Amino acid sequence: MALKLYSEKRNFKNTPEPTAKKVKAGKTLEFVVQRHNASHLHYDFRLEMGGVLKSWAVPKGPSLNPKHKRLAMMVEDHPYEYRKFEGEIPKGNYGAGTVEIWDKGTYSPLTSSQNKVETQLLKELKSGNLKFVMKGEKLKGEFALVKLKTESKRQNEWLLIKHRDQYSVDEEYSSEAYPSLTAQKDSKVTGKAKKESKATTVQKKTPAITLNRPGRFSKKVHLENYVKPMLAKETDVPFDNPSWIFEIKWDGYRSIAETGKDLKFYSRNGISFLDQYPEIAVELKKIKSSLILDGEVTALDKDGTPNFQLLQNFDPSRAALVYYVFDILKKDDRNLTMLPLEERKEILRETLKSINNNVIRYSDHIVGEGKKFFALVSEKNMEGIIAKNAQSDYVEGARTSNWIKIKNHKGQEAVIAGFTEPRKSRKYFGSLVLGVYEGGSLKYSGHTGTGFSDKTLKSLYDQLSALVTEISPFKEKIKTNMPVTWVKPKLVCNVKFAEMTNEGIMRHPVFMGLRENKPAKEVMNEKKKKVNQLLQNK
Ligand code: MN
Repeated sequence: MALKLYSEKRNFKNTPEPTAKKVKAGKTLEFVVQRHNASHLHYDFRLEMGGVLKSWAVPKGPSLNPKHKRLAMMVEDHPYEYRKFEGEIPKGNYGAGTVEIWDKGTYSPLTSSQNKVETQLLKELKSGNLKFVMKGEKLKGEFALVKLKTESKRQNEWLLIKHRDQYSVDEEYSSEAYPSLTAQKDSKVTGKAKKESKATTVQKKTPAITLNRPGRFSKKVHLENYVKPMLAKETDVPFDNPSWIFEIKWDGYRSIAETGKDLKFYSRNGISFLDQYPEIAVELKKIKSSLILDGEVTALDKDGTPNFQLLQNFDPSRAALVYYVFDILKKDDRNLTMLPLEERKEILRETLKSINNNVIRYSDHIVGEGKKFFALVSEKNMEGIIAKNAQSDYVEGARTSNWIKIKNHKGQEAVIAGFTEPRKSRKYFGSLVLGVYEGGSLKYSGHTGTGFSDKTLKSLYDQLSALVTEISPFKEKIKTNMPVTWVKPKLVCNVKFAEMTNEGIMRHPVFMGLRENKPAKEVMNEKKKKVNQLLQNK
């Protein structure tokens, strides 16, 4: 196959893919594996040979397990330039979808012969039995591509097989569990201008990739076997108790890590985090022993304060990712879940001390004095504390009263600016659209759909119905999930919330009741109000 077929399938005015060009081979032969999220997700396995890239589409992706014989469909030759290609192939074009470089490197034939390297490879290719050694970042060691001898018309079916060597593994291997090199690179250069290439110009149309990438891959990696973390009940009141310990409630994503040979790192629902948090995955990979750790992925700002918003829009120049570990379930072959928590934490502390990794940190606790600790945490504007019975077992997936979260809710007054249509069985309205005054105009500050009893739903609805107006009280356009009925901004309510974003939007505010006799115009962002007062008193 020459590059004719490659060109025939593509219109280079509409796709950022490189045009067909043969090149003279360099001294080393290169390979690339591209993750191609097209109508069907597959991995394109390409070996440089004779000035082009010999190409196979591997639906399941390459594996390092010799038992996995991956079907590889030979496709048309691709130009040598294609090894650098990553980006979006626009809709309507051949192979429309996203291409990411998953692995790259050099390769050489396994058997040495009198022939020139490429002559040898082309000979093996023709015979349907290609053996080679890969030097990539993920794919290493000996591999074979073996053509299936089918009588049928399907002449292009091959198997990609890893040979047993020091790089092969015995566990299940899923390429999806490992981030593409594109993803790793993106997370390092977020915010910086990328190299100008035809591919990235097209890529710009897609939103910037942040470390929190829900839906980054059309297919989330759901693990089949995973540990469900133990959960906590909730209360508002801190307490003291000498047989309890108190930890900081980290504001991030709960995650379990299974370290060792077959690294797993995932959310409480078993969705792999290996792609989402490559910075942490890389550090976890360094742990050789097999541990099961329970903790929270947290973004710390420059002052070392956890900040959920920084995690959501993660930018390595502004924040550091840390995996705070507060429990250990397994060490080597030893199940630790039946040990009392205080013993598990001691083992964890020692284990992490020996690992000595600044990204994977021990989440310490204080004993007995929950009230003082809560006051301290609240003062620091942190989310709250977790109280844990020091003698308790670790019970997978259970919400027990041995773990209790005590949240530091902040109070805020807010003006009701509208209400949304109810969903499902809810009567009257879905949520309240809230605002606060800033410089004389009402500014959106979030919406709350919780905290109402049936009685308050009805009484609020009656009061709001009398205030309905066609005009939004906001200057800005507000996005809501459901249609909004605007009201005159007269009613003021109290809400509690866990955190306010830098834009002054409350996260998960809870309705606490109407605030009577309060002029709406006096409702401001409490935090900013305090700052203003301080400035005035100076
Ligand atoms: Mn493809």
